[in-house]
Amino acid sequence: MGTFKALRIDKTETGQAVSAVRFDDSDLMPGDVTVRVTHSTVNYKDGLALTGRSPVVRRFPMIPGVDFAGIVEASSHPGVAPGDAVVLNGSGVGETHLGAYAERARVRGDWLVPLPPGFSAADAMGIGTAGYTAMLAVLAIEKHGLAPADGPALVTGAAGGVGSIAVALLSRLGWHVIASTGRAGEAEFLRGLGAAEIVARDELSKPGRPLGKERWAAAIDAVGSHTLANVLAQTRMNGAVAACGLAGGSDLPTTVMPFILRGVSLLGIDSVMASRERRIEAWDRLARDLDRGKLRSLTTTIGFDAIVPTAHAILDGKVRGRVVVEIDG
Ligand code: NDP
Repeated sequence: MGTFKALRIDKTETGQAVSAVRFDDSDLMPGDVTVRVTHSTVNYKDGLALTGRSPVVRRFPMIPGVDFAGIVEASSHPGVAPGDAVVLNGSGVGETHLGAYAERARVRGDWLVPLPPGFSAADAMGIGTAGYTAMLAVLAIEKHGLAPADGPALVTGAAGGVGSIAVALLSRLGWHVIASTGRAGEAEFLRGLGAAEIVARDELSKPGRPLGKERWAAAIDAVGSHTLANVLAQTRMNGAVAACGLAGGSDLPTTVMPFILRGVSLLGIDSVMASRERRIEAWDRLARDLDRGKLRSLTTTIGFDAIVPTAHAILDGKVRGRVVVEIDG
């Protein structure tokens, strides 16, 4: 028992306030496993939570942070033992349950997955929810029956977290990857991750026609809005688009044309409430299919004090790839 370092969001009259505090152990929420958190990350959703731009946080006070990796300190869960290295993604942590930006977390053992062999805690947070979501999207495309021989795969928001890991994964799996980015200066970075072609963000982000030239067999979209509509309109016959984000907007101004004239499928990706089975499948595949060198090349490491500025930067589209937080850094 005692106190530990944490970021805390409190509700105020004008919105919310974020402060670094000593948090009391006895104020942790119920859970059957206590974890010493060593690493976390900053996802787009963490940016929304820390700035209050969207109502991600639904309990106050809240320790934000939706992802962590660490070592189990205490457990009454039958599948989890003290000393285990574990990873947590989502499950409401940082939203309704006290979260990751803290030296300690108390959670349900069912939410944890073992740190995959061959990954360090920092690697796992280099992946984080963004990377694990990219893997869920790849799995959805594969389960739809699509393979690299069917044609190219497009990734939007490619220089961001979901996008950069999606590019690395798809290229490793043999896809011809087309990366869409608004940052022309990141073209070389994306080619280094395995992109074969670069498409300017503007080409897809403006209102477009209900159907266009058939360009890709599969797509992973982190952007939403007109971008997703244009991606659907340019997907080949019987192709599929995995929709996982809203960096460009949560609307979807499309028509039924791609669905009824080309048999295009829209695959929804939710990482937060994914079953334990799907989580373990995704992490197994990440262990197999994500090139560690590429993972490290797309990762930046920050200390605890840089979490809040990074949250603002990610919403401004200024973060490249993924960010790892060293909690004691
Ligand atoms: P990042 O900020 O790292 O990446 C988003 C990328 O989208 C940016 O890097 C930028 O890429 C592009 N982008 C940003 N703003 C705009 C805009 N206005 N119009 C078009 N493109 C834009 O975020 P993450 O990768 O962490 O998350 C991406 C999205 O996926 C978010 O909306 C997030 O909420 C969602 N998400 C959903 C999950 C789920 O379970 N469904 C899980 C994880 C994330 P570039 O500069 O290359 O153009």
